Amino acid sequence: MTATIRILPDNLVNKIAAGEVIVRPASVVKELLENALDAGASRISIEVGNECCDIRVRDDGCGMSREDAQLALVRHATSKITEFDDLWTLRTRGFRGEALASIAAVARVQILTRRRGEMAGTRITAEGPAQPQVEAAGAPEGTDVRVRDLFFNTPARRKFLKTPAAELQQVLAVVTRQALIRPDVGMTVTGENGTLLDVPPAQPWAERIASLLGLPRLEDLFDLDNEIHGVRVRGYILNPGISRKDRRHQFFNVCGRPIASRTLSYVLQEACKGLIMVQRFPVVVMDVTVPPGEVDVNVHPTKEEVRFRREPIVMSAVHHTVIERLRMANLMPTLDLGTGKAPLPPATQEQLPWRVNPADAWPKASTTIPGDFTVFTGPPPAVSVAASAGTQAPLPQAPPSQPAPHPQTSEGPCAVRPLQHSLSGISESGNDPVAAAVLLRAGELPEPLGQVGLCYIVARAGDDLLLIDQHAAHERLLYLKLAARTGKVPSQPLLIPVSVDVPAVAVAYMNRLLPVLAELGISVEPFGGQTYLVQSVPADLPSLDPALLLADMLDDFESLGRVEEVAAVRDRVVTRMACRAAIKAGQPLSLDEMRALIRDLAGARLSFTCPHGRPTMILLTRDQLDKQFKRKV
Ligand code: ADP
Ligand code: MG
Repeated sequence: MTATIRILPDNLVNKIAAGEVIVRPASVVKELLENALDAGASRISIEVGNECCDIRVRDDGCGMSREDAQLALVRHATSKITEFDDLWTLRTRGFRGEALASIAAVARVQILTRRRGEMAGTRITAEGPAQPQVEAAGAPEGTDVRVRDLFFNTPARRKFLKTPAAELQQVLAVVTRQALIRPDVGMTVTGENGTLLDVPPAQPWAERIASLLGLPRLEDLFDLDNEIHGVRVRGYILNPGISRKDRRHQFFNVCGRPIASRTLSYVLQEACKGLIMVQRFPVVVMDVTVPPGEVDVNVHPTKEEVRFRREPIVMSAVHHTVIERLRMANLMPTLDLGTGKAPLPPATQEQLPWRVNPADAWPKASTTIPGDFTVFTGPPPAVSVAASAGTQAPLPQAPPSQPAPHPQTSEGPCAVRPLQHSLSGISESGNDPVAAAVLLRAGELPEPLGQVGLCYIVARAGDDLLLIDQHAAHERLLYLKLAARTGKVPSQPLLIPVSVDVPAVAVAYMNRLLPVLAELGISVEPFGGQTYLVQSVPADLPSLDPALLLADMLDDFESLGRVEEVAAVRDRVVTRMACRAAIKAGQPLSLDEMRALIRDLAGARLSFTCPHGRPTMILLTRDQLDKQFKRKV
């Protein structure tokens, strides 16, 4: 082995550097597209051919003078920064001055350009390590970069390319990401068989998003626009009812720069909790802008990640913006009797009988946001719903110890006690002033009329008809209550401990489960081998059948096939507890019990869906009734 240190020749240095930024045809497209955007183009055309190894990008941007064009191919030659601190106030996508040099190191490049307002154009031809040729040439204003035979001199890299179709897919993904955040710029992508993408310049943002993501209805896109602590959050979120099976339709940008961010994705998922089915993902296009100095864009070779100086503030701003917007969207389904298909598009504010003026009901976000992550896990601000409704018709209060009269069933009061128990106390944790106002319509709660099929509560909500799925609604409330619990939960010992046997493979999982269960008020002790003894259940959920709950948990474990993180396990236990302890379909309810349920729903946060994302309520408006009875057309 030799120990002689040598300075590598430039062309080798360039090839090595190219390995970092230019890994596939899509990388070339990304860099050239970014340059065109930086040049202020309003139209950009991208053509790909020769199995994606020939790429041409044309723009109508500012173009380059002869001197600039000659420098453009030199490594670390850039017009975008002059000193390191410029990085903090950067307005362009590029700044390292290495893209063109890197491309020229692994492909044959020709640049044809004319600066705006200048008479003469320039052609630069660079092939391999030879000095680029510069000549005068006629050219339209703007820049036309042709890249041919990508990786002709790095065959190993070329071998790593996927099929041309897959590479083309990546090219389209790159252009889509940029096009989603720059609706002002027209872009086309043409492949060997014709146009693949074509969006006009100066397009309204929502239209651009809908056309690129193939969304049939603009109404499903909810706009985001908010500023909290100097963090501006703008963009669109798709109605979470129309979710996707993966995160590929989440487009995050920071200061107009497309980036990938697991944290933002996580925060988004948190904000949509309760509105989205498990294992489904919301669709979003979002731009987060922070003041200069708050973000470092120079942390990733292809600039796909950024680092915030104060990430928690940014994340809590995003979280609040999304949550507030979703609340405002009032996602309760209404019924369409015409086609017999339900649920229909979500009711708009105008359709809801308990419409509120969002400006009145929404506390100004900046006043309530702590600058850290506690905002994600802490219970919403507590407000007594009963108190806010207190000036209106008195509502039945259901004291925990005294079951309400139960006129509809001949069963003893025992059958209803669990419900009364679990309903009372929910408002301690689950409610917030906003959703309360939404259900409260001028202080008046929907009035229950009775039950249908021992499954649905029928209620009059002003002039409208409200149908509530008693199980789903109660489950949602319990879920909120349980999820918000902190500290040790009081438990009630069982007279006779329940013994549960678990399969051998699940013993480790069970042992992991025990502290989580204990925290939630269920104490389970190992009884040797595969046997466990349940000693107590939460004091306020005396009807919870611990054996069934554990069976659910073991089912989950089996279908999951692995042990999850503690937070996920807790969420799973809570979900299962809520389901097991909630009022069942088929259970008769007294009017007072229905009132109590409605009152608590009015106090709950995002109570329009159960934890699995199914609707808890459906609204049939007076207007819809009139139409059905042909009083109106
Ligand atoms: P960077 O974008 O990081 O500055 P590049 O190697 O991508 O580095 O480009 C080098 C320089 O060439 C840019 O700073 C810019 O001045 C010029 N340039 C590149 N592409 C274009 C274009 N399409 N229109 C105008 N100028 C361009
Ligand atoms: Mg660049």
